[in-house]
Amino acid sequence: VIFLQLSKSKFIELKCIVCGKKYPENAHSLCEACGGILTGEYKLDYPIDLTRRESIWQFREYLPPVDEPNIISMGEGWTPLVKISNFAQKIALSNSFAAHNLLCKMEGQNPSGSFKDRAASLSVSLAKQWKKEGIFLASSGNAAAATASYCARGDVKCLVLLRDDSTYSKLSQIAMYGPNLVRVRGLFKDTASLVSALKATEESLPDWLNGFIWANYNPLLLDGLKTIAYEIVAVSSPNVPTHIFVPTAGGDLIYGLYKGFLELKTLGQINEIPKMIVVQGAHPGPTVDAVEERIENGQENDDTEPTIAGALRASMISDHAVAAVRKTMGFGVKVTNEEILEAHNLVAKVDGIFCEISSSTALAAIAKSVRNGRLNKDDIVCAIATGSGFKDYRPPFNEVSQIPLADSPDSIPHVLEHIFGASA
Ligand SMILES: [Zn+2]
Repeated sequence: VIFLQLSKSKFIELKCIVCGKKYPENAHSLCEACGGILTGEYKLDYPIDLTRRESIWQFREYLPPVDEPNIISMGEGWTPLVKISNFAQKIALSNSFAAHNLLCKMEGQNPSGSFKDRAASLSVSLAKQWKKEGIFLASSGNAAAATASYCARGDVKCLVLLRDDSTYSKLSQIAMYGPNLVRVRGLFKDTASLVSALKATEESLPDWLNGFIWANYNPLLLDGLKTIAYEIVAVSSPNVPTHIFVPTAGGDLIYGLYKGFLELKTLGQINEIPKMIVVQGAHPGPTVDAVEERIENGQENDDTEPTIAGALRASMISDHAVAAVRKTMGFGVKVTNEEILEAHNLVAKVDGIFCEISSSTALAAIAKSVRNGRLNKDDIVCAIATGSGFKDYRPPFNEVSQIPLADSPDSIPHVLEHIFGASA
């Protein structure tokens, strides 16, 4: 009985982040008055329990209301927060950056391999709570893998709308969980195509939940993502990061992080909200352009090739990402394909971390910010490594034949002599 009382959700209502208009918990849209996104308001009257447990659901007081039997969880969250001192040392200019002050939040260690599991766990649990027949979403990447996985576990039907040119490597993981798949030509061509695809699906399947993992449709899912901020504070306190570098597409991750830190600040559990740094590839990078106000005079020496950070190819400005950066006096960084690959390879070689190419943008942006003097030795910097390296795989060699071959176990010493030189 005591446990049930303690775990009651403190959710009050949804509220527009721009004009403050209030909405019920199941509102599934942007603010009809001003077009702003909605976010969950909670009664912030009791400190958030930051002792380590087994999933995001330990924070259920500060998550939307879901009854215990409807919770679909598999230990999402509580990913490691690791120091990457060797990488930091390599990128540090003399005295400009203290190597022990660089942290990496390893979101690739979530059950389906990305941070989206936090939102998917919440989304599928809400579908059960609201007695929906299934979930549909449009994604060819991490959001689809996460949602299909939690739907499988929760015995909730799942329909994934895919772009018609999705790659086999991305589809394979999604298909393993057994969702219904439909390819749609021109799905992500622009916002209008996406909205009409989701609307047409919604009208055909009225009792399903639109689980498109984007706050514009699912304001509540930001609360799944904010748990990353809770965990960062839980593990790093009292040396809470001063800067959080966040790979950004739709903007929910960076806004969710900001929201989590804001709640902790309101409750007096941190003194200051870290600066939120929005990171994108060189092309497209509309949200960084908006933050850095480079829209009019935007002619830079950027790549003309699309960014290799596939998960970040978003062509529209995320207003809520811009808001998170502005409210924390943060900034924006675009990184070229060359810079991304350099960081991606370096962190694997010197710190043993293999993360998704799109996640390496955060590390590349940190290196660039050190070079540009935007970070200094007192800063404590955290990169959000959003996904596992297995998500978007680039083999380091084209042919296995490039690896030395021992014709038999007996010839191993001979091969080793070639690699390491004669010993003694
Ligand atoms: Zn509004």
